[in-house]
Amino acid sequence: MGEIIKLENGQLRVPDYPTIPFIKGDGIGPEIWAAAQPVFDAAVKKVYGGTRRITWQPVLAGQAAFEQTGNWLPDATLAALKRYLVAIKGPLTTPVGGGHRSINVTLRQELDLYACVRPVRYYPGSPSPVRYPERVKMTLFRENTEDIYAGIEMGVGTEAAKGLTALLKEQRQLAKVRFPATSAYSIKPVSKEGTTRLVRAAIEYALRNNELTLTLVHKGNIMKQTEGAFKNWGYQVAEEYGDRLFTMAQYQALAKTSQHQADQALQGARAQKKLIVNDVICDNFLQQSLLHPENFAVIATLNLNGDYFSDALAAQVGGIGIAPGANINYQTGQALFEATHGTAPQFVGQNKMNPTPLLLSGAMMFDYLGWEAVGDLIRQGIAQAIASQHVTADLATSTAANVLSTSSFGNYLVSHL
Ligand code: NAD
Repeated sequence: MGEIIKLENGQLRVPDYPTIPFIKGDGIGPEIWAAAQPVFDAAVKKVYGGTRRITWQPVLAGQAAFEQTGNWLPDATLAALKRYLVAIKGPLTTPVGGGHRSINVTLRQELDLYACVRPVRYYPGSPSPVRYPERVKMTLFRENTEDIYAGIEMGVGTEAAKGLTALLKEQRQLAKVRFPATSAYSIKPVSKEGTTRLVRAAIEYALRNNELTLTLVHKGNIMKQTEGAFKNWGYQVAEEYGDRLFTMAQYQALAKTSQHQADQALQGARAQKKLIVNDVICDNFLQQSLLHPENFAVIATLNLNGDYFSDALAAQVGGIGIAPGANINYQTGQALFEATHGTAPQFVGQNKMNPTPLLLSGAMMFDYLGWEAVGDLIRQGIAQAIASQHVTADLATSTAANVLSTSSFGNYLVSHL
C-alpha cells in the first residue's frame, strides 16, 4: 500500500511510495489511461530503480460512477481526492444545455482548485497551422473557481429571472436590458481574493522560472467592475513583490510626471532581465498571440477567457491532442492533473486517439511532486517520438509517418524511454 502525500508548513511532503487516485474518465478516457499508466510507471522505474513507485488507486466519476453507484460524482471519490491531495483524471462527459452540472467544474469548485495551469509548447514535428510554431512558449494561469463558471444562471421567465428583473428595475438598470421579458441571465462573480491568489500563483511561477513577462489578460474596457478590477487587483499583487519585478502600472504612474523617467525605468528593468508585468485586452491578446507569440510568456486571466485561450493556443502547436493541464490550490497543496480535451465520443473504442495530453499532464504532476527527472524523461520521450514521427494519426504530418494506435504509442514510449 502506498502512503499519503501531505502539505506541511507550506511544503508538499511526498513519500517514496505515494498513493495517487486516478479517474479513467468517460469516452476515450479508459483507452488513453491504459496507454499512459505503463509509461508513468516505466519512467519512475527508469529514474529511481525501485526506490520510488506510485500506487495507483482507481476512483469513480462520470458515466462509470453513475452506472455503478447512481451518482455522477460519489462522495467517496471527493473524499479520496481530498485525502490523497494529488490526483490525475481523464475527460468526463458534460451534457450541453441541460442535464447534470459539469463534473469537471464541480471538482474544481469542491476542491477549490483555483489555478488552472496550462503550458503550451511546440514539439518539433507536430503539425501546425502557423509558420513559426516554435515561437509559442506560454504558460497560461486561468482562474478556475469564479467568473461566469460559477453556474448562477436564471432561465427565461423563471422566478429567479423575474426577481433579478425587479432588482434591476429598482436600481434603474433595466433599460440596459434590450428584451427583458425574454432574457436569461448568468451572474459573473469576480473577487479580490480570487484574483489575488491566482495572480500570485502566476507571479511565483514566473519568478521561479526566470520568465521575462507576465500578462494580465482581461476585457476590462467593457466589464469594468469585474475584468477591469481583475487587472487592477493583479497589478496590486504584483507591487507587493517590490524590486523583483516591474509593472506597466508603475510605468504609467511615472509617465504622468516624466515620460523620460518612465522609459528609463522600463529599459532598466529589461536590461536587468526583471519580470515585466503588463496587461492586454483579450481580443487584442488573441490577435497578438497569433502574430507575435514570442511576446508572451506567462498569462494570468479569468476563467472563461482562459478556456478560449487554451484551445486557441494549443491549436498553434498541434491541437488538442497535445495539450496538458493542471488544477491546483497552492495554499492547500490539492492538485488534479488532467488532459484538456474531452471524451471524443465519436472515437470511442477505436484505439486511435492521442494519449499525449494525459502523458504531459502526468509529467506536470511528477514536476509538482518534485520528481522532475520523471517529468523530463516523459517529455523527452514524447519529443523524440514526435520528431521521428512515431505518432498517433492526429500528429502525422506526412504519408511517411509511422502512425500508431493509442496503445502502440504507449508501448513505443515505454520501450524508448
Ligand atoms: P473533445 O475534446 O472530446 O473532442 C473534440 C475533437 O478533438 C475530437 O473530435 C477529436 O478530433 C479531437 N480530440 C479530442 N481528444 C483527442 C485526443 N486525445 N487525441 C486526438 N484528438 C483528440 O470535445 P467535444 O467533442 O466538444 O466534447 C465531448 C465531451 O467531452 C463533452 O461532453 C464535453 O463536455 C466533454 N469535455 C470534457 C472535458 C474534460 O473532462 N476536461 C473537456 C472538454 C470537453
